[in-house]
Amino acid sequence: MTARIIDGKTLAAELIARVADEVARVGRDHGLEPGLAVILVGENPASESYVRSKTMKTVTAGIRSSIHRLPETTSEIDLLRLVAQLNADRDVHGILVQLPLPPQIDPHKVIEAVDPAKDVDGFHPMNAGRLASGLPALVPCTPSSCIRLAKSAHGAQAAPHGDTRERVHMPFAGLEAVVIGRSNIVGKPLAQLLLGENATVTVAHSKTRDLPSVARRADLLFVSVGQPELVRSDWVKPGATVIDVGINRIPGEGGKPRIVGDVAFAEVATIAGALTPVPGGVGPMTIACLMLNTLRAACTIAGLRKPAV
Ligand code: NAD
Repeated sequence: MTARIIDGKTLAAELIARVADEVARVGRDHGLEPGLAVILVGENPASESYVRSKTMKTVTAGIRSSIHRLPETTSEIDLLRLVAQLNADRDVHGILVQLPLPPQIDPHKVIEAVDPAKDVDGFHPMNAGRLASGLPALVPCTPSSCIRLAKSAHGAQAAPHGDTRERVHMPFAGLEAVVIGRSNIVGKPLAQLLLGENATVTVAHSKTRDLPSVARRADLLFVSVGQPELVRSDWVKPGATVIDVGINRIPGEGGKPRIVGDVAFAEVATIAGALTPVPGGVGPMTIACLMLNTLRAACTIAGLRKPAV
């Protein structure tokens, strides 16, 4: 078998185009201009690159964005002060604090300081709790991206974003889903979304026994670990859909760094039914989901109905 390669770049561009149409409509009909504020502390090159990609896409989506750059030595209290200022700013509908933060700052305190209505990363415990309870919530972008990409391989449009009560397309009902990785930003919320889709969900992690045989049960395999090419072809059930979240920089030819995922792409492509590439899979769709979350947050704050995207 040769897997269908899920083209995250094209699917993300389609979603951003739909978001841009809605942004134009709410501007025209309601004078609403969705705004995203991104906070970047320190000079981590990977974070710089993520923030650049995110803010570039705001231009395509018609979303106003601002970047707040703070030095590596910023104190927790100063960062919390900036978050409070952005919470109170009526022109800001989404606040994103790029992680990781320097060691003197407790990321949990910062995440909890963001107004849950502006929490476009979906990391606030209020949004995590609402998602777990099946209530409308701002859902973390990477798990939303994983669901959209997996659905594209199962012949279905994505369900309404982040609203587990309104799902209409259920292509995952009864399927075995295995999520490898239990982070708060990917593995745990992804498991909640899959439960909302009526999949039978297993969350595996660093202490799971016989991980290859657990992974082989999956009709839907999601991998968010951060270990280059951990998942080999003999971990994958023939025909399974495999979504690779990992972003790993390894030495390539001539010492130039190369990016690979958590899945051994070439060999898994010979057995999976569908597979995301790295780069060009989950990453671009994650950014598209951030644009959608910003639009949704702006509509909710302005008291408008949920955008039809
Ligand atoms: P994390 O780094 O917080 O935690 C890693 C998880 O993997 C833990 O739950 C751990 O239990 C599990 N794990 C570690 N070693 C394991 C092993 N040998 N076998 C099974 N499980 C193991 O996780 P994260 O924040 O979800 O990030 C994981 C990867 O995904 C990283 O490469 C990160 O860069 C990438 N990522 C990509 C995106 C994107 O938009 N594409 C977004 C977030 C994270």
